[in-house]
Amino acid sequence: MKSILIKDGRIIDPGQGLDERGSLLLSEGRIAWRGVTPPQTDYDILYAEGMVVCPGFIDLHCHLRQPGSEEKETIATGTQAAARGGFTTICCMPNTSPPLDTRETVEYVKAEAEKSGAIRVLPIGCVTRGRKGEELADMEGLARAGVIGFSDDGSPVKDPEIMRQALEKSRELGLPVIDHCEEPSLVEGGQMNEGELAQRLGLRGIPSASEEIMVSRNIMLARMTGGHVHIAHVSTAGAVALIRDGKKQGIRVTAEATPHHLTLTEEECNGYNTNAKVSPPLRTRRDNQSLLRGLKDNVIDIIATDHAPHARSDKECDFVKAASGISNFETALGSLLGPVHSGQLTLNMLIARLTGDPARLLKDDLLGTLKVGAPADITIFDPYKEWTVEPGSFASKGKNTPLAGRVLKGKTTATIYGGKLIYKDNTVTFIGEL
Ligand SMILES: [Zn+2]
Repeated sequence: MKSILIKDGRIIDPGQGLDERGSLLLSEGRIAWRGVTPPQTDYDILYAEGMVVCPGFIDLHCHLRQPGSEEKETIATGTQAAARGGFTTICCMPNTSPPLDTRETVEYVKAEAEKSGAIRVLPIGCVTRGRKGEELADMEGLARAGVIGFSDDGSPVKDPEIMRQALEKSRELGLPVIDHCEEPSLVEGGQMNEGELAQRLGLRGIPSASEEIMVSRNIMLARMTGGHVHIAHVSTAGAVALIRDGKKQGIRVTAEATPHHLTLTEEECNGYNTNAKVSPPLRTRRDNQSLLRGLKDNVIDIIATDHAPHARSDKECDFVKAASGISNFETALGSLLGPVHSGQLTLNMLIARLTGDPARLLKDDLLGTLKVGAPADITIFDPYKEWTVEPGSFASKGKNTPLAGRVLKGKTTATIYGGKLIYKDNTVTFIGEL
């Protein structure tokens, strides 16, 4: 593999407190050198003037749909979509069919990712057998097979006693239980955020309390067991307050927020727009603001996409029948730069929440960094490039996004994985062989 010089970019690596103009040399899959005057060796050149050069993004929460729902996404298409979005490591949820509740299914995903994946795929294993919530999956076996955590995502672990046992295992294994926090009895039949708009649209609402009850329960069980609970896709101001309080008490609770819960509101559901149907639902401006504040205050540890691709027929139907989820990889960065451009979030903090911070949750200090010697996983983006979201041109099979037709400011222009240029758009000049 030929070396690549990334020339004259704005190099940002919050983990090293780095934000300066310079170049990076990538050799044999690793970061070999950083500085201003490059060494005299043979390399291809990628010109990064006017662009940000940062560690490859890490996503702790996505759905690749394989095995079982290959019409929605495959590991091949999902990882290509992720690469276009600037992600070089993604963690896939186990709600496939069959679900990833055995060593064999986890091994299958790892082998398939090795064969057809464009980037690093780290599987998450089920908490309970068949995601049924009745008895624990073989969590030790799953841990040995290499899962990075456990989740029944799509559903919460409903039974508190089962959650208690799962968190005890979490403590022994040193891996988090990632819970989709929604009290099922309050969600049943719900379509969108509970409130005036839901009433006006005649849709059954899902109250914020459905999430907050589960977050609160999980924090209490984490306190009791010493296990690590990670709260998936936080959507309400009340949940942010509960997590803030839990952290203050020293309880092992971490949390993530998605691009859509940070930037969009329930108003997107107007006109019965099924592409705005997501679980948990889009909430209000006030919730967006609390989540942003939580990100700044280290209450929300990371940003995760919850990339949830669906087939056309899953969304081109009645709102009540439509599937929940957004195809998120390719718009995540553009969406998240919104709060940066409006001054609500700094660029450095956004990058930290997508790189070094998720790497810390993975307990991997070679990921999410531009340190010399680390794997050459790099994202290059133009923070000012304006572009129109056209789902038809997504690499993802899932064209389901409420952002179709919208103009976003900021776009990934090149992605390098393991020292190899795996994606570049037509604005980047690259002198060398692809
Ligand atoms: Zn979920």
